[in-house]
Amino acid sequence: MSMGISPQVYDYCSDIEYRLQERFREIDHIAECNQMKVLSAMIENRLSEACLMPSTGYGYNDIGRETLERIYADVFGTEDALVRQQITCGTHALALALMSQLRPGDELLSPVGKPYDTLEEVIGIRPSNGSLAEYGISYRQVELLDDGGFDWDGIRAAVNEKTKLVTIQRSKGYASRPTLSVDRIGQLISFIKGIKPDVICMVDNCYGEFVELQEPSQVGADLVVGSLIKNPGGGLAPIGGYLVGTKECIERAAFRLTSPGLGKEVGASLGITASLTQGLFLAPTVVKGALKGAIYAANIYEGLGFKVIPDSRESRHDIIQQVIFHDPDLLVAFCQGIQASAPVDSFVRPEPWDMPGYDAKVIMAAGAFVSGSSIELSADGPMKEPYAVYFQGGLTWEHAKYGIMMSLQKIYETGKISLGQKPL
Ligand SMILES: *Cc1c(COP(=O)(O)O)cnc(C)c1O
Repeated sequence: MSMGISPQVYDYCSDIEYRLQERFREIDHIAECNQMKVLSAMIENRLSEACLMPSTGYGYNDIGRETLERIYADVFGTEDALVRQQITCGTHALALALMSQLRPGDELLSPVGKPYDTLEEVIGIRPSNGSLAEYGISYRQVELLDDGGFDWDGIRAAVNEKTKLVTIQRSKGYASRPTLSVDRIGQLISFIKGIKPDVICMVDNCYGEFVELQEPSQVGADLVVGSLIKNPGGGLAPIGGYLVGTKECIERAAFRLTSPGLGKEVGASLGITASLTQGLFLAPTVVKGALKGAIYAANIYEGLGFKVIPDSRESRHDIIQQVIFHDPDLLVAFCQGIQASAPVDSFVRPEPWDMPGYDAKVIMAAGAFVSGSSIELSADGPMKEPYAVYFQGGLTWEHAKYGIMMSLQKIYETGKISLGQKPL
C-alpha cells in the first residue's frame, strides 16, 4: 500500500498510463502552442509589474485591468474583451452576453439543442424573474440529429427576420450529446452567416478553453463567453467571467455590466488582477493536466467494461469525462475516492443529498482551494439510472492521476470489480 493505493490498482493504472504516452505527447504539443499564444500576448502588451497592483473606488485608468483585457483579446483573436471579477460566475457571464445584445422583439436561437441548465431561467424556458422572455425576447431551439449532427434544414427554417443572436454551447455540459469541436463550430457559424450575415454568433466556451489550438472566436464567433473558475483562470482566479468578441458586442456588454456611458472605464480590481493574469499564464498547463486526467480515466474505466463518454480514443474538445456505472454503490465509491484525494477537505465523506432543482439525490466530490471551482479535481452525479459520474479538472496531471487511482481504489474495495485480468 502506498498513499492508500493497493498494488493491484497501481499496476492496473500504470499499465494504462504506459499505453497513453503518444496521446499525451499530442496534448503536450497543444499546451506548448497555447502557452506561447498566452506568453506572446503578455509580451506584446508589455505586461508590467505595475499591472499587478490593486485599484480601488471607481477604478478609472486601471492599467492592470486594461492590459489583461487586451491580453485576452489577443489570445482569443478578437477586437476587444471584458474580463472582470464583477462577473460572478459562468451563468452570469452568459446572461450578461445575452441581455446586453438582445432587445425586445428580438429572437434568440440555439441550433444545438437545449442549453446548460442554469440558462433555462435566464432565457425563460423555465419562467423566472427578469428572464429574457419577460422582456419580450423570444427563443427557438433546433435539436441536434440523433447522430449528433447539425439539423441543417431545421436551422435554415428556424432563422427568421427576428433572429438576432445564435447561441452555441461548445461543451456538452451535463447532457449526453457530443461536445463540439472548434472546427464544427466554425462550419455551423459559416452556415448561419450564409443565411443571415448580420446575426450575432455567440459561443458558450465553458470547459473548452485551451483544449484545442484554436478558439471559437478564431472561426467566426462574434462573442465568446466563459468562467474564470474553469479553464482560463488556471486555478488561481478566485472569481470572474470573461467575454471576448467584436468591439460592438463588448461595448454593449460593458454598458450593461456597469452602466450606459461608463462601460469598461469603471470596475476597481481590488488586487485580484495578479491572480487573474497569473492564472491565464498557467491555464494552458492546467488544462493539459485536466485533459490527461480525463483521457486516463476514460481508458481505465473503459478497460474495466464501463461505458465512458467520450470513449478512450475519441478526440477531445472539453475537459469533462463521463463514466456510466449502472450501480449506485460504484458511483458513490468513485466520488468518495475523488474526495479522499483532494488537497482540501480530504477527510469529508460525500454522501448523496437532495439538491434544489434536481429530481433525484446528487452526490458531489470537491475539495478545492477556490469554492466550487471545477478546474480543480471534482466529480458529481445524480443518484438515478444510469448512475453516471461527471468528472473534470485537476490542477496538475499528477493530482488528477492520483485522484483517479483513488476512485478506482474505492471501487475495488466494494468487491464488485476484479482487476485480475489485464485490459486489452
Ligand atoms: C459551468 C457551465 C456554465 C455555467 O457556469 P457557472 O459558473 O456554473 O454558473 C454554463 N455553460 C456550461 C457549458 C458550463 O459548463
